[in-house]
Amino acid sequence: MKGNNFDVWKDWKWHLKNSVKSIKQAEVLTGIKFPPEHRKRLQETMEKFPMSVTPYYLSLIKVEDYESDPIYKQAFPDARELIIEDFEMSDPLSEDSDSPIHCITHRYPDRVLFHISNTCSMYCRHCTRKRKVGDQDSIPCKSELQAAIDYIAEHHEVRDVLLSGGDPFMLSDELIDWILGSLRSIEHVEVIRIGTRMPVVLPYRITDNLVKILKKHHPVWLNTHFNHPREVTSSSKQALSLLADAGIPLGNQTVLLSGINDCPIIMKSLVHKLVMNRVRPYYIYQCDLSEGLSHFRTPVSRGIEIMESMIGHTSGFAVPRYVVDAPGGGGKIPVMPNYIVSWAPKKVVLRNYEGVITAYREPDNYSFGKCELECDTCHLQLDTSDSDESKAVGIMKIISEYEDDISLIPENNSRMERRDSDDDES
Ligand SMILES: *Cc1c(COP(=O)(O)O)cnc(C)c1O
Repeated sequence: MKGNNFDVWKDWKWHLKNSVKSIKQAEVLTGIKFPPEHRKRLQETMEKFPMSVTPYYLSLIKVEDYESDPIYKQAFPDARELIIEDFEMSDPLSEDSDSPIHCITHRYPDRVLFHISNTCSMYCRHCTRKRKVGDQDSIPCKSELQAAIDYIAEHHEVRDVLLSGGDPFMLSDELIDWILGSLRSIEHVEVIRIGTRMPVVLPYRITDNLVKILKKHHPVWLNTHFNHPREVTSSSKQALSLLADAGIPLGNQTVLLSGINDCPIIMKSLVHKLVMNRVRPYYIYQCDLSEGLSHFRTPVSRGIEIMESMIGHTSGFAVPRYVVDAPGGGGKIPVMPNYIVSWAPKKVVLRNYEGVITAYREPDNYSFGKCELECDTCHLQLDTSDSDESKAVGIMKIISEYEDDISLIPENNSRMERRDSDDDES
């Protein structure tokens, strides 16, 4: 019987069906008992911003100390969400204005966001698309998806498609397979990326069958969203390992959140856990100016301080890039501590992570000339096609001792063709 229960627990569809959407239910399951006044405020908050938590994610909360628990804070409503500052916006990144067609946000020249799901298994309280949470818990219909795929097919500049949402893994395996297959059949789509929080909030969604489907459509990259080291569990490790074993490069996007991970020690522990699980920390986001997030926001200086504590102090590939997503839709802007102290002709003065100051002597004779975009006469190698390795086999042949050939002559060598024709004439 016990084994049976565990099978049910590992069934992702069971978690969706049993997502916790009411305070009463959450109290019964966790044993937390909110004071009546507090419960009333949570209820009011949920009328504007609904709650939904997977039983799995709920189970990670340390109940004794729930008020400072990072999982609790990401999943449970807080009355401060109803405070709306005058500088906050419902769509701070202007995603709706940059949407040429339903389901697509086209902001950057060569890549698009393709929103294939309007829903998530867990509603993050810090969601940047909070305006849409719980709006219509639906999957766009196939004709809407097809129209978006047609848009991508018609726009030859799109070489990178990011499946986003909501959470793309809310869709059935069959639909995911169909979308990936349709995108893969578009010649100019080089890379497909998936942004999903399932490894964090419902790791059982990462099934053998799902991974088998993803693997069919390579190159597929995946970014997930761990915010705190305590979100790493044996189940989430198992999910990440299934994905990594399928050859899917994994990245992580963290949101810098006050009271959750705005601490160099927590952040460093998080990135170390991620790389141990073959996940490359990709971004730390400054919290967006979405409505009702003021209690989550830190000053940018806190983020820079965290970056300062990581750059140089730990493996380069464990350090994510810290970005501010520009309000109004300008895209992500990287922010970092300054490492250039001064600059004179021929000399850059730099400081390292320890505070050591050094001068880098620049070259005396660098000339790049003036680029007039006259590529025909450029001295650089502008042929960017893959190199041909067939010559390598030939070189191996000459090197080998069993061969007596003294030279190798490529096919269609005009000198040899001349010799052949001379032979014919004689
Ligand atoms: C973040 C984002 C992307 C992807 O940006 P990368 O820096 O390439 O990861 C693409 N489109 C939109 C609208 C985005 O917000």
